[in-house]
This record gives sequence, C-alpha cells and structure tokens, in this order.
Amino acid sequence: MRIPFDNSYAALPEGFFSRLNPTPVKEPKVLAWNAELAAELGIKGDDAQVQAQVFGGNEVPEGATPLAQLYAGHQFGNFNPQLGDGRAILLGEVISSDGTRRDIQLKGAGPTPYSRRGDGRAWMGPVLREYLVSEAMHALGVPTTRALAAVATGEPILRETGHLPGAIVTRVAASHLRVGTFQVFAHRGEVEALKTLTDYAIARHYPDADGPLGLLRAVCAAQAELVAQWMSFGFIHGVMNTDNCSISGETIDYGPCAFMDAFHQGRVFSSIDRQGRYAYGNQPQIVVWNMAQLATSLLQQMDDKETAVEEATEIVHEMPELIEAAWLRRFAAKVGISNPRPEDVDLINELLSLMQTDGADFTNTFRALGTDQARDQFTNRDAFDTWAEGWRARIKDQPDPKAVMQAANPAVIPRNHRIEQMIVAAVAGDMTPFERLMTALSTPFDETAPELQRPPTEDEIVPATFCGT
Ligand code: AMP
Ligand code: MG
Repeated sequence: MRIPFDNSYAALPEGFFSRLNPTPVKEPKVLAWNAELAAELGIKGDDAQVQAQVFGGNEVPEGATPLAQLYAGHQFGNFNPQLGDGRAILLGEVISSDGTRRDIQLKGAGPTPYSRRGDGRAWMGPVLREYLVSEAMHALGVPTTRALAAVATGEPILRETGHLPGAIVTRVAASHLRVGTFQVFAHRGEVEALKTLTDYAIARHYPDADGPLGLLRAVCAAQAELVAQWMSFGFIHGVMNTDNCSISGETIDYGPCAFMDAFHQGRVFSSIDRQGRYAYGNQPQIVVWNMAQLATSLLQQMDDKETAVEEATEIVHEMPELIEAAWLRRFAAKVGISNPRPEDVDLINELLSLMQTDGADFTNTFRALGTDQARDQFTNRDAFDTWAEGWRARIKDQPDPKAVMQAANPAVIPRNHRIEQMIVAAVAGDMTPFERLMTALSTPFDETAPELQRPPTEDEIVPATFCGT
C-alpha cells in the first residue's frame, strides 16, 4: 500500500491535536472499497488483505502522522467547551488529482484523549450508512466528505440494543476544520492559536479571502449554497451542531441523516432531536445560527473590535438573502425554470404546500412533474391542476424545461427504508443490497432501478434514525 502523504495539520502547534495510533482490531475485513476515489487520491494497493490492515487501523502506512483533532461545539444549542475526535484518527493528507488537499481519516478507530465516555468505536450500520449516503451526495453534485473504505473489525461493540458488529469508515474530506475548531481556541482566549488556525483555513480553503472577515464571508457563501442543495434534494442532516459544520462547505458527519419520502417542512428523523431543532424546514436558519457562532469566534482575534463586530454582523445578516437566492435557483430548476424571477418563490411554495397537505413524495413528485404520475401524488387534484395550469404558463417560454428538470430532479435517492434493509443484510453477511444501492446511486438522475424509486410501503416505513454511534 502506497499513500502519497503530504501532511500539513500535523505541523500545526501541538495544542491543536493529540498524536496517537489507531487501536488495532481483531480481524479486519474489507466491506467496501472505493477504487475510483483511491485512484483520484493516488493510493496504490489493490490487495484486500493489505487494505483491511491499513484501513482497519492495524498497520500505520508509511508517511502517516496519526492524530486526533481538538475542537469544541454547540450541541443542540448548548456549548460544550471540549469535544474533539473521540473515535476518529486523521492519518494525514494527500493532494488529489484535481490539486486539492484531502484528509484521510479513520472513523471508529479506537479511543482517543477526547473520547469522554465513548468507546471510540462505530458499528457497521452507521459506517455503511455514512459510506453510502456520502457517496450518493457526491453523485448528486452536493459538496461532501467521501468514503474510501469500510472495514469490519471482527469485534463486537456494545450499544443500547446489545452487541453489534464493529466497523471503521475511512472518510476523505477537503479538511476536518469545523466551526467548533475555531470555537475551542476562542473560548479559551488563545488568540495566537486562533490566528494560526485562521491563516491555515484561509490558505487551505479560501486563498483569496482577506483576513478573518474575508474567511467568514467565504464560509457563509459556501454554507448558503450547501444548505440550498440539501433542501432541493429533501435532505435532512439531523445533527447540525457547530462541530458538524465544515469550514470547507462540505456536508460532514452522516449520523441520523435522511432523505424525505413524504414531504413535510417539519420533518425530523433523528430520534434524539425531540424539539425538532434540526427539522427539514429549520435548516436554513440553523446554518445562519452556526455562522453567527463562527463570527463570534473569529472576532476574538480582531484588534479594531467595534468596526469588526459591525462588519461581521452585516455578513451574517446578509446570509438569509444568499440562502434564498440559492434556494430559488435550485428549486426553480426543479420546476423547469432556468432564469428565476422573485415571484417564482410563490409558485414553488404553493406546490410545496400542496405536497405537504397531501403527503406527496418529494423526489417522485418533482421527477414526474408534467405527467400523470405527479398528479397521482395528490388527493386534492383540483388544487394541483390549478397550480399546474399556472406553472405551465410560466415555463412556456423557458429554454428546454424538461431537460432542466431532469438534471435537477434525481430518480434515485438513498431512501431510508432501503438503507435499513441494506444494513440488516450486511450484518447477516450479505453485501448485495449495499452493492445494488451503490450502483444505482452512482447515476442518480438515470432511471436504472425502478424498485429503488418506490417510496416505502406502510410496513417498510422507518420513522426515525438513531445516532446509534
Ligand atoms: P457526533 O454527534 O457524531 O458529531 O459526535 C459528537 C462528539 O462525540 C464527537 O466529539 C465525537 O468524537 C464523539 N463521539 C461520538 N461517538 C463516540 C464514540 N463511540 N466514542 C467516543 N467518542 C464518540
Ligand atoms: Mg461530529
């Protein structure tokens, strides 16, 4: 196994992380390997035995500088001054074929100084969920961390429901810098560390950004685009804590996330999100809240506080407008409009409101718009027909609305019931459903697998997803 490491994080001050190796596991076995991504990263080594040893954490590859990163974060609105990688170990970075620097991190690789009461491990369910959903997001064109490998550890781990098979996912990210990485140093009043981190983030992600406020502006723009994309695919992240909010603008941390079937603005999947803080329709507001926390942290290093506060406030206050613009662009495309006007917001919201009333399937309604299949999603056909009449008039002069819609509305998404079925099969040793899903999700805009387009039947519905970490 040859991984062309080029590590920069490990060269930051020692207070940024703790150095340690993954804890070896009993019997590592490759469950999934992303050969295409490996090639992009310049990783050479096709031997499954070797892959299992390296990505199971038993063998530290040459050039790696393993470490657990320190960070803090607001979890469900409450500040926790110290979190950190409690079960993840960064092996190092590589420069991928497109010239970007990428982290290679093992998640579930054993306890670290930041594990608190956790065991440092993950079970096969969330590992395969993260692998599959993150790769599906990538295929949909959404910025996201990626999955290079899933390795079973051969060790049982204890969770609420009993013993479960352990596994490790190898996560590839533009970086693992989070809002929480800034928060930890800001909270401690470590201004020098905060400055070093700010410079590092700018150099790595936004080389054109001018100072801390330039960084803030760039992250706000990236996060605005990201949340608009989530909304446009009916994606619910589930744990938008500030430690799960990436500086690079990638989707990170696939815990209790899910794609909606029947549309509802208030939809929540996470079993621990009892207040619905991270409900589908709240996501744009929460991103702004998270950016306000980033602004607060960044401001700690500014000398001219008064003007800086003013400017930072303005940047954060402008964010809802950025999100609305990105939202409109994305949703307009979903209904075949390529040059949206402000009044299209009402047209789109009327459709969403009809969908919500009738529990229409989010993905299938948009995909089939203009055909009887979309109309069949509604019980109140008259209301839908009236809407459709106005919609048809609006798209009459649009360039190729059908093609615009086909490119914005996927046919196949990782539906929750299919993920659950895949996990049950994988635990029983059958990876066929995983592979079938991966294949269909790699070309989500093509109708390659009709059975995967179908919403769950009454019996198949999975009402909640568990952190179950
Ligand atoms: P998450 O909700 O997955 O973003 O995790 C929040 C925090 O809990 C992070 O600091 C994780 O590293 C930590 N954590 C989650 N699961 C475990 C575990 N099984 N063992 C140790 N730490 C964990
Ligand atoms: Mg996290």
